[in-house]
Amino acid sequence: MENREDIKKELQELADKLERYDRAYHQLDAPEVSDAEYDALRRRAEQLEALYPDLIPENSLSKRVGFSVAQGFQKITHAVPMLSLGDVFSDEEVVDFMDRVHKFLGLPNDAPIDIVAEPKIDGLGYSAVYRDGTFIHGATRGDGTVGEDITENLKTIREFPQKLDSDSLFNLPPKLLDVRGEVYMKKVDFLALNAKQKEKGDKVFANPRNAAAGSLRQLNPTITAQRNLSLFAYALGAYEGTPFKTHWDFLQALKGWGFPVNPLIRICHNVSEMLDFFRDIGQMRADLPYDIDGVVYKVNDFSLQKRLGFIARSPRWAIAHKFPAEQAFTRLNKIRIQVGRTGAMTPVADLEPINVGGVLVQHATLHNADEIVRKDIREGDTVVIQRAGDVIPQVVRVVMEKRSADSQPFEFPKICPVCGAHAAREGADAITFCTGGLTCPAQAQERLKHFVSKDAFDIQGLGNKNIEEFFALGWIKNPVDIFKLKENHELQLLSLDGWGQKSVINLLDAIDKAKTISLARFIYALGIPEIGEATAKLLAEHFTSWQDFQAISTGENAIEKLTEIDGIGTSMAEDIHDFFAEEHNQKLLCELLSILTIQDFVFTNQNQPLKGKTFVFTGTISMPRDEAKARVQELGGKVSSSVSTKTAYVVAGSDPGSKYENAQKLNIPILNEENFKKLLDEVIK
Ligand code: NAD
Repeated sequence: MENREDIKKELQELADKLERYDRAYHQLDAPEVSDAEYDALRRRAEQLEALYPDLIPENSLSKRVGFSVAQGFQKITHAVPMLSLGDVFSDEEVVDFMDRVHKFLGLPNDAPIDIVAEPKIDGLGYSAVYRDGTFIHGATRGDGTVGEDITENLKTIREFPQKLDSDSLFNLPPKLLDVRGEVYMKKVDFLALNAKQKEKGDKVFANPRNAAAGSLRQLNPTITAQRNLSLFAYALGAYEGTPFKTHWDFLQALKGWGFPVNPLIRICHNVSEMLDFFRDIGQMRADLPYDIDGVVYKVNDFSLQKRLGFIARSPRWAIAHKFPAEQAFTRLNKIRIQVGRTGAMTPVADLEPINVGGVLVQHATLHNADEIVRKDIREGDTVVIQRAGDVIPQVVRVVMEKRSADSQPFEFPKICPVCGAHAAREGADAITFCTGGLTCPAQAQERLKHFVSKDAFDIQGLGNKNIEEFFALGWIKNPVDIFKLKENHELQLLSLDGWGQKSVINLLDAIDKAKTISLARFIYALGIPEIGEATAKLLAEHFTSWQDFQAISTGENAIEKLTEIDGIGTSMAEDIHDFFAEEHNQKLLCELLSILTIQDFVFTNQNQPLKGKTFVFTGTISMPRDEAKARVQELGGKVSSSVSTKTAYVVAGSDPGSKYENAQKLNIPILNEENFKKLLDEVIK
């Protein structure tokens, strides 16, 4: 028997990873890993949990759906929970699903049960509530129980019905209707949006699903209105009206009320018809105007659905049959080691270029030394590679039959291929690090590339090649040098090969403009390990100003305070703390701050009655501090940790600290909790 402690540890690690990936995917619309990688981790967790149900961690995926509501959004509680779907990948599993349905209902396996088969649209689920035919409010799925209020955003979608039609006297809109469906972005609209974003230098989306989610989940609905979104309705939530017998009848009624219903849906009478549908849709997939990631099978009869009910987070009467990831065979020419900005040595496979699902793939990540050993990947091998949902291709396996007799196992280097420093493995993550630190040119250059990259300082004209060139010349060794390029090297730059006067002026202008930067971008640019774009944004939203972020991160109990933020774990908090503690980073920050203007984070809510007003909280109030803070920020206000003449209000609870006295000295209005709530209510009116 395997060691229970090890299993427990693995389950906890899986739960933590999945939680983190869920946040990135569902809440921040910026997935960190491919769907295939996510699904593999999820399956591993499910298998272990089935064997060791008493070791299931508190934050296990099996105990929740999606992710909680993001900051800034109003919350809407679903009258009927919005759940997930179980999923299967093979024909056998579809047969098993139907067997389970029959068994649960006490029917023989060949008893006819009608199934409605539908394409599984790759977008973002939504719920919309109508009373007497009029749209009242709409929400995202959120954590399944509470979703984000997207009422105004939905209204901007052309196809979204705000008043229900009636195609006949027998199909009048019901008293209450909670419709569920999918908001998606058509492939053409996705390409056009990305082209536009690129032109403006804004974020480009990895796929139509992220673009749809990122467009719909906007605090400012005018942004949603500028994006071309589409939708299909496909499920019933709360309902008061003439009852329907079947899901199919309900979908027909939806059409009559003016909802777009997918035209490809089909009734299947047995498993073989279901699998035919799956194959038919699979063949059409590439030509459909929108992305789908599989098909959904649903028991048609509502009374059977009711009897079947739910298991944990998904219905027993429906299942998603997902398409496999897109794969191809090619030759792995070479294994290269890339040294990242944190010193992590990542093996990368250089491949014979190959077309996978319409994208030319030339490289694949091999993750780490253990992965190479586990899959026994060698240079010269023929490999199966896979792209799933997003951009980073992976090596699935080696085709052993094609391996040449003289092939040798790959030896992971013991020294950094760039600086020659000793390579060391750290922690349980199987990652090998170059120990060269600041002396390793690869690390320094990667940090610089990250610093000027699109989601960080976004300096046009200072691409990876230029960084390498200026680094080699010794002109740019650290981020501060970038802003001193004009002062120190303008003339030399003008005489450099390939640089005309115009391009030099453009570059120096771009550098000058970059001196004003948003807080989220600045935090991201610093390249603190584990602090990606999404986490940087989270920190910016939380602290709103650089001063507050720095004060907490360098102050007493920094790690405890940082981990109080929803989404920041201990290891991230330690990385932030370590970053600030390092002397050379302090020096760098000090120099950068004397050059740059870091803009405070501002919530982009249209309705900003508290704009320009800074609140300071002291003492204990009954509303959780995070919620109070979020309420102020949602309305455009700022929250600061210290009282100054710029403070608009101090909110004082029981046992207030010295901030209370400071406020009195400076004559700043002091609100108790009741008055604070009154103020919030008044400004909303
Ligand atoms: P899901 O997306 O696999 O299935 C449930 C959803 O399907 C529903 O909520 C609904 O929105 C949608 N749907 C589309 N067409 C439908 C139809 N005709 N009828 C009913 N529902 C339909 O499940 P999930 O829990 O939302 O997400 C889990 C999946 O998301 C994972 O399997 C993974 O592929 C992906 N994911 C990826 C990452 C990542 O980091 N890459 C992270 C989290 C989730």
